[in-house]
Amino acid sequence: MSAGLFDLSGELLDRTDDVIDITDGPEHVLAAVGRAFHQLLERRSLSNNSLWGIAVGLPGPVEFVTGCSVSPPDMPGWDGYPVRTYFSDLYATPVWVDNDVNLLALGELRAGLARGAENVIYVKIGTGIGAGIIAGERIHRGAQGSAGEIGHIAVPTADDTICQCGNRGCLGALASGSALARDGARAAESGESHYLASRLKENGSVSGEDVAAGAQCGDRTCLQLLQRFGHCVGDVMASLVNFFNPSLILIGTGVTGTGDLLLASVREAVYARSLPLATRNLQIRLASLGDEAGLRGGAAMVMDELFCPERLARWLPAGDPTGQPDLVAS
Ligand SMILES: [Zn+2]
Repeated sequence: MSAGLFDLSGELLDRTDDVIDITDGPEHVLAAVGRAFHQLLERRSLSNNSLWGIAVGLPGPVEFVTGCSVSPPDMPGWDGYPVRTYFSDLYATPVWVDNDVNLLALGELRAGLARGAENVIYVKIGTGIGAGIIAGERIHRGAQGSAGEIGHIAVPTADDTICQCGNRGCLGALASGSALARDGARAAESGESHYLASRLKENGSVSGEDVAAGAQCGDRTCLQLLQRFGHCVGDVMASLVNFFNPSLILIGTGVTGTGDLLLASVREAVYARSLPLATRNLQIRLASLGDEAGLRGGAAMVMDELFCPERLARWLPAGDPTGQPDLVAS
């Protein structure tokens, strides 16, 4: 979890990072986020009610209008939890809650590699996989806020792997940090990969990072696992490219060491399966800002929302938007 404090020029004044487990449930996790906020405010001698706005990014589907997370598959206890109210009660300021991949995409659009691009897909690969869509330089959230949930799109070349949603061949079940760790563990147990077998013996488990490190050392099985991972992502992206025609796809991977190999396999699959017109000016690159993109995207979202003409007219007479959490209503 990362928390950042920004001024109105969009400068990141301070940030703090902590390790949290999202499966601990909202009370536990949001209390940790609150402690991070407290730390940031205290270091600048700022009071709780001095914030002009707060953005929160969650790793799952969020109903943007209500600021609640909705049936996140791997986040027990979060369904319908009023994340917005939790923070607007504490800080008496407008709070916007969004899917974290949307914030990553917005951050890259304003301050990273996507600057100047109008149509962009940002793919976040972490424990799971998800996408943020920029259409016409704006986040495309869809009717309910679930646009970009690519983890449950069926991969054309999938095997029979069953996803936690109950369907077969979902992208998230084949290509995600946890899928890579699972496949790596299998290759270690079967002895197919000596590299991974030795990792398993040493650490008692195999991670996605181990597979990436094995691939970099030239272990054939690790290379194949990573290639297959990239091809699954690329197969799905190819369909999205034909459908949406973006000029840029950014891959943000939280699985250390997977970057360049993954990128090469994704490119291979996308170019093999997309229409020439759709790929003529298409760039596929690794995201440039890392997790700072999420913080920058959050700041950009708060400023976009506060300074849109309708909302500005509502808070300007008071001088600033503090003390007006109801401003989020459109
Ligand atoms: Zn699924």
